[in-house]
Amino acid sequence: MVPLNSKPTEIKRLNEASLRITWENGEIVTLSSKTLRELCPCALCKEQRGDTTHSKPLTSKHSKLKIVEHTKDESLSLQSVSAVGTYAISIAWGDGHSTGIYTYPYLLELSKQT
Ligand SMILES: [Zn+2]
Repeated sequence: MVPLNSKPTEIKRLNEASLRITWENGEIVTLSSKTLRELCPCALCKEQRGDTTHSKPLTSKHSKLKIVEHTKDESLSLQSVSAVGTYAISIAWGDGHSTGIYTYPYLLELSKQT
């Protein structure tokens, strides 16, 4: 069990589908891109939560037409990870999305879910 308020000592992008986090107590947790993307903390994703195709309705909300700009594979493809200050990381995805800021406490929370 990683203690609360822990910080990662290493965050490594293993491949397109997983991120490995080493916490300061030595515990290693691998998070899947699926988990990270589905729980992306940015405002847009929070709004769209539950819609895994990331489609945007072009017309009214009642229209049945869905415009899907990216395949699910692209949106789940971990492209790069970068540090945000000393408290968070941001992740760039294959579909160009990169506005999610994953704070350490949030990553810890995700670590406990897996
Ligand atoms: Zn997002």
